[in-house]
Amino acid sequence: MSDRGAASEGMRVSRAAAQRLSLYLRCLTAWPSDAEKISSSQIAAAVGVSDAQVRRDLAALGHLGQRGIGYEPRELATAIREALGIHRTWRVVLVGVGNLGRALLRYQGFRAQGFQIVAVFDNQPTKIGECIEGLRVRPLHELEATVTTEGVELAILTVPKEAAQSVADALVRAGIRGILNFAPVVLRLPQHVQLVTVDLAIQLEQLTFLVQHANGVAPPAFNG
Ligand code: ATP
Repeated sequence: MSDRGAASEGMRVSRAAAQRLSLYLRCLTAWPSDAEKISSSQIAAAVGVSDAQVRRDLAALGHLGQRGIGYEPRELATAIREALGIHRTWRVVLVGVGNLGRALLRYQGFRAQGFQIVAVFDNQPTKIGECIEGLRVRPLHELEATVTTEGVELAILTVPKEAAQSVADALVRAGIRGILNFAPVVLRLPQHVQLVTVDLAIQLEQLTFLVQHANGVAPPAFNG
């Protein structure tokens, strides 16, 4: 995942810390519901970061937890949700109903986390009007009206890289506040529109880097 920088104006936690907060929340969600406390070392062990890191990240959220006693799991989860902005529902459009777009539409996890995909768009005449996961594929000229009438704030962009910038520009004109971009391209957006890019090839490159530099472990011989 790539982003514009460590922290943007008005944000109390850095983007790296925000990623860790998401992991802490996963850990809290899986924590036994009758548990009264969770310690920073339990969160640290579950997520794979240091104890001190967890304490620093959580301290940025305010006065939560007590030294030597730990955090109240539900209170902590609520504070993290608020910090991440997922204590509310977000209305989302998806542009580009190719293979990746359709796969994302089928993914149930978005709705469970409060992300509601309310409309989908494409520019292929054969796809417009088709019904995918209960949503009619709309032409791009309906974008602005849909964003306004449906109260949409976020967009998922799953068009090819050649089309990504012009579609992103259209999303900006339509009033979108944030774009989750899956196209392997660096998008230029105005400051008031937030961008997160998921470049799966870059993620794989990170993995090959780690595997290649794994300390002292010789690769097995390939006999293929
Ligand atoms: P398919 O073969 O069904 O098109 P795909 O995953 O190979 O699937 P891509 O070429 O990656 O398709 O394109 C993803 C989707 O983005 C497609 O549905 C395509 O019609 C759509 N698309 C391409 N250009 C634009 C554009 N300018 N505006 C909106 N949608 C676009």
